Amino acid sequence: MFLARSRVAQLPFPHVRLSTSTASPLSRLRSLKASYPVATARLKRFAWLWRAGRVGALTFTVYQLGYASGIADYAADPRAKEKEIAATLVQQQAWERDGEGKVLPPRLLRRSHPVYQRVADVGGRVVAAARMFAKGEVDRRRELLERGGLSPGGAEELKEEMEHWQGKLRMCKGDWVYVVIDNPVPNAFVSDLAPRKIFVNSGLLTSVGASEDELGLVLGHEISHLLHGHTKDGNQTQFFLAMAQVVFLMVIPIDFFSPLLIWAAENFQERELCAHSRENEAEADETGLKIAALGCFNTHRGPHIFKKLGEFSAEVTGGASLPHWSDTHPMPLDRERRLVELSKKINCDDAKRCHGVLERMRESFLGR
Ligand SMILES: [Zn+2]
Repeated sequence: MFLARSRVAQLPFPHVRLSTSTASPLSRLRSLKASYPVATARLKRFAWLWRAGRVGALTFTVYQLGYASGIADYAADPRAKEKEIAATLVQQQAWERDGEGKVLPPRLLRRSHPVYQRVADVGGRVVAAARMFAKGEVDRRRELLERGGLSPGGAEELKEEMEHWQGKLRMCKGDWVYVVIDNPVPNAFVSDLAPRKIFVNSGLLTSVGASEDELGLVLGHEISHLLHGHTKDGNQTQFFLAMAQVVFLMVIPIDFFSPLLIWAAENFQERELCAHSRENEAEADETGLKIAALGCFNTHRGPHIFKKLGEFSAEVTGGASLPHWSDTHPMPLDRERRLVELSKKINCDDAKRCHGVLERMRESFLGR
């Protein structure tokens, strides 16, 4: 025998166990016939679980290999990689076409351009305020840790948060670059893949005429995405949802209802991603408002940029808007209302204090 009798007796398949019994061949055959569907069902369930687990594990391995390969690429030449990533992000803002319909590469505004200078001036104040904000987050957690009385789990969590903010404080230090793209669509963005770079479309100033306070809030919002690590967070969410969908697609039976199930899975993934993105946007709005207040921008007036953006969007699209669940951003007017309400608590209305803050910021961070 290939297996000991005692091992065979433990096996879950009755028809195998029968081979060790002393029953007559006819009754063994009857019993085997009766138990076959049960064993097959168990085998099928085992195969289903094994396949789902294996697909999940392989997808995760592919992700890890891609991640490691990306880190190796970046470590080999960080400057070249950052440049390449920035060029890709700028290229995504291409909008003009030549006579033959070919998309033209986007133009960047020179440092001497008045729009660039306004962005750089406001950006300098916002970056200095973001450093203050990150330092405040570190100090607050350090104080709590020094005071003690926390559970081991609570202290560990606080330490991890402090390390996160210490990293962000380091990120805020150093030279920041403002990339102003000649594009009429009012927009600004950042990416974890190109830290210390703020990308701004000139349309933010030329198409909707953002004031200094409004621009301060927009740039504060963008830096907040970097401080909270929203790009990485979004990528991870997207990966786990995609992985769940791969496993789901592998294990569902191929039959008449398959297209419906596939559509439902895709729909679920899109809804979840959009909901997650809206949460991140709301968090960046709130932190952005706090940063704008630290930078001594008027936080009552700043949120009106959302009204301007909403009007621009309605003009361009003819008033058409996406259904809420498929929109990655909260509705502009909802954002404005929420931030106006928040600005009643978060505002820099003490002119004297702000004057002092601005002076200190200029001395410590801007060197002027
Ligand atoms: Zn955002």
